[in-house]
Amino acid sequence: MSRYRLTPTAAQEAVLREHCAHARYVWNLAVEQYAHWRPGRKGAPGYLEQCRQLTAARAEHGWLRAGSQTVQQQALRDFAQAMTAFFESDNPARRPSWRKAGRHEGFRIVGRGSQWEVHRLSRKVGKVWVPKAGWVRFRWSRAVPPEVKSYRVTMDRAGRWHVAFAAIPPLVLAPRNGQAVGIDRGVAVSAALSTGELLHVPDLAGRERARLRRLERKLARSKRGSARRGQARLDAARLKAREADRRKDWAEKASTDIARRFDMILVEDLRIVSMTRAAKGTVEDPGRNVRAKAGLNRAILRSGWGLLVRRLEQKAPGRVEKVNPAFTSQRCSACGQVDAKSRESQARFVCTACGYACHADVNAAINIAAGHAVTARGGFRSTEPANREPHLPTSLTGRR
Ligand SMILES: [Zn+2]
Repeated sequence: MSRYRLTPTAAQEAVLREHCAHARYVWNLAVEQYAHWRPGRKGAPGYLEQCRQLTAARAEHGWLRAGSQTVQQQALRDFAQAMTAFFESDNPARRPSWRKAGRHEGFRIVGRGSQWEVHRLSRKVGKVWVPKAGWVRFRWSRAVPPEVKSYRVTMDRAGRWHVAFAAIPPLVLAPRNGQAVGIDRGVAVSAALSTGELLHVPDLAGRERARLRRLERKLARSKRGSARRGQARLDAARLKAREADRRKDWAEKASTDIARRFDMILVEDLRIVSMTRAAKGTVEDPGRNVRAKAGLNRAILRSGWGLLVRRLEQKAPGRVEKVNPAFTSQRCSACGQVDAKSRESQARFVCTACGYACHADVNAAINIAAGHAVTARGGFRSTEPANREPHLPTSLTGRR
């Protein structure tokens, strides 16, 4: 997603605000329907049923009918997608929640097939088609992806409009060199490759992080609804957006690079979401170790791991394999010995049997890479790992 500043005329802005209100209304209706749903009850209405309800609501309410059906339907489709992401086991997506006026203002437009909805007017200006508003201009601040699938128009809290173009990441061709790589997600480093490379997700710089902390303290102290609070919130949001942008950028570049260099990419099957959810505790045992786990989980999510794996799967479909991570951090990649004591520290692995020493995450990445064999001709053969992990009771199969 690349974001551009949208510069609507006053008349267009009124239309955009209407679209936002309609999209929010429809989205919140969908949220409400799901809020009443409980396991065991009749299923909440799916996308098609909701579309039928939308048609009925439009027939009934003139103000809704006056709006764009495309915008309203797309809000339902976005919601359906958000629910799918929420239920997906290895996607760190949150449950779709209420959208508030002034806070979550936006709507999405899907391109109509072959018709090109984005044009360049001059070096610095482009225009994009929005139903009922017509051609809206935006600042052509960087290259627009060639295959725009959809775009999202948003208004931030400062009242500025933006358009973000979503494109399907282009496929990356396999190098056909028969090489496989294992990737271990770490907390200290973002990802370690079996080649020994350590990848770090760019974070906020020390100064920026300190500023964010200051702003958050200010927010906590300032009075609700005050101008001071509004400004602090805006500044904090801007810093967080900058961090998210850097993370996305990193995931794009790292995934392209890895997909280009290796035929086969092996990653841990981590089920990040189940890990994150576990931090909230269970019904029988609410909130056990919540603070410690929440800290670790934040670090995992921040590391951009989920996004990296998603992009790899999109760019190298069929070439990414998820490997059971059990013992990968305790097993010596040189001699195969499994011993928790070999893990000297978070970062260092020293085998208690053969003395092999290595960066702990790289050692794990080599184990992950060994999870599958690559044939000499460059094809892939699904075989059992050469050194199989010993069978231990499942209670002992924790990763770290
Ligand atoms: Zn060893």
